[in-house]
Amino acid sequence: MASIALVQPMTTARALRGPFDYRIPEELREHGVGVGSMLVVPFGRRELLGVVVGLSDRSDVAEDKLLAPLRALELGVPVELVALAEWVAREYCSTFARALALVLPPGAARRLSGRRRGARSAAEHVPLGGTGPDALELTAEQRAALEPVLEALRDARHERRLLHGVTGSGKTEIYLQAAAAALARDRGAIVLVPEIALTPQIVTRFVERFGDTVAVLHSRLTAAQRYEHWRRLREGSARVCVGPRSAAFAPVSALGLLIVDEEHDSAYKHEGDPRYDAREVAAERARSAGAVLLLGSATPRPETALRALTSVIARRPDGRALPPVRVLDMREVGTGLHPETEQALAQVRSEGGKAIVLLNRRGWSNFLSCRSCGNVWSCPQCDVALVLHRAGGYLACHHCGHRESAPTACSVCASTAVARHGAGTERLAHDLAALFDDGAFPVFRLDADVVAGSPGAAGGGHDAARAEGVASLLARFAKADQGVLIGTQMVAKGHDFPDVRLGVVLDADATLRFPDFRAEERTFALVAQLAGRVGRGGEGVVLVQTIAPQARAIVHAARHDSAGFLAAELERRRALSYPPFSQLVRVVLGADSAADARAAAMAVRARMLEGLPPSGASLLGPAPLFRLRGRERQVLVLKADDRRLAAAAVGDAVQHTASGRAHAGVTFSVDVDPQ
Ligand SMILES: [Zn+2]
Ligand SMILES: [Zn+2]
Repeated sequence: MASIALVQPMTTARALRGPFDYRIPEELREHGVGVGSMLVVPFGRRELLGVVVGLSDRSDVAEDKLLAPLRALELGVPVELVALAEWVAREYCSTFARALALVLPPGAARRLSGRRRGARSAAEHVPLGGTGPDALELTAEQRAALEPVLEALRDARHERRLLHGVTGSGKTEIYLQAAAAALARDRGAIVLVPEIALTPQIVTRFVERFGDTVAVLHSRLTAAQRYEHWRRLREGSARVCVGPRSAAFAPVSALGLLIVDEEHDSAYKHEGDPRYDAREVAAERARSAGAVLLLGSATPRPETALRALTSVIARRPDGRALPPVRVLDMREVGTGLHPETEQALAQVRSEGGKAIVLLNRRGWSNFLSCRSCGNVWSCPQCDVALVLHRAGGYLACHHCGHRESAPTACSVCASTAVARHGAGTERLAHDLAALFDDGAFPVFRLDADVVAGSPGAAGGGHDAARAEGVASLLARFAKADQGVLIGTQMVAKGHDFPDVRLGVVLDADATLRFPDFRAEERTFALVAQLAGRVGRGGEGVVLVQTIAPQARAIVHAARHDSAGFLAAELERRRALSYPPFSQLVRVVLGADSAADARAAAMAVRARMLEGLPPSGASLLGPAPLFRLRGRERQVLVLKADDRRLAAAAVGDAVQHTASGRAHAGVTFSVDVDPQ
């Protein structure tokens, strides 16, 4: 019986590296302290929550110096999630403690005063299996896509599969039947969705089909409800977990199936440290559990298409064709609405039905300038222009959240001639309402400004308010007899309104102008996904306004040619040696002065070059990055053949540079697979 517990204290300090040895007292040994147990330990003068990450019979610490934990919490973390956290820390150059924080029960840190183990009675028994509607009849294509998943489940074999099905091809029914098959074999399932509020249908269908055995981790839950779901999963009374990216860490035991719906969605990438990608976490979890990973999308990412076994569903079960897409050349028209777009909207208003208009830019005007002296209003903290939000009467920085009153005169020359440039969703909603809203054809606006809170924030009231706002707006649009929904890319996500007969994408090439190798993939997905929302219940048409009508992403999207786009995109990536044919790791260094950021970047670079293999890797930079939140920034990008070697070299260089005194005050941010 092991007498020493290796405990990783939960602290965010990068410099403090555990685990540390603690003596397991008799009393706790009887309760079966093991890997994954959560302990409250004395640490210096503090009490910290810690996770047991290993056991040993002996310690290098002298007997009389060994401390004992103060107590153990009732439920620990499953062993396999401790291993997963270790993998996340290594893979994303983070610390073990930060990665462990992802797998702890919700509110764990606040439960320091929690009860001892064993205090709780046995979990209530909830029967497994279907409680709601029966499985639907599958088409031949759907059956062909489901069959290999069932086979892999039968053989308890790990497989990475892609379900490449056109929008409306009935992917959810395949997920449901695959999950039922996993449950029948006494294995659990996790279903990841980009954002619960934007995809209520899939949640409803899982709950209808599986009843109480489903735990849904949506953002409107209180901390106590969240913990309750975690506990039900941990104790096995719930076997299916549906949730956003954080659900990749749900304590589902005997995992047999991991589903990632809308796998192309960038919401799967976490922007805090560790900068994990839930799709990769799901892949690693599926691999180690011998489970099936099922990724679904109408517009899969090139890396997924390359690495996964693919099943294609080209036809919708109801036999409806995808709507025709017309590309409207805006080079002659300038900005605003193309005459054909205006006519199509008028037609929807007069004949009945609904329209969705996508403009991926918030606010009223992109930027303001002075007509006399050319002064551009920009953020005092960041090197970017401020966006005018007219209704609120303020200018906002979309990078740091800085706000100031909308100006009436130039701050440099006092001229009152202030020019507004470009249009965002606020302006568009206003213009469309002026053109079309006669009371019977209302304009609904969906963007981050009209629904409170910010996307991707973890938990908390902000997120709940946002979810509430999105859900109620979509419900109002669904209930309306007629109308137009305008908004940012949120309007192109997985929701399903049968009476939408017109879809419009404005400034479709805007995403192409980002200096990013994923720009084409994003543009294609945006246009194709919006097209997929149209004509679900009958006829429909999609109009795409662009000044780049020949762009490959737009041409392929207009033809609904996802396979053709993927093939060409993979060819381009191969030629340029971009992912998935290489690995990218980005290191961003921030400091108060440009010189400090630069010096730290040079130090990281020098150390990295020592650790890299002589071939198969190239290091770009340091290069300056625009100032953000008052911090001067420098960026280094490592392109390498071997992911593990690259992550290790970067991890070592950052750790080494960050722990020295020479670069105090510099912040280090590592992003493996930047998105
Ligand atoms: Zn001026
Ligand atoms: Zn700013």
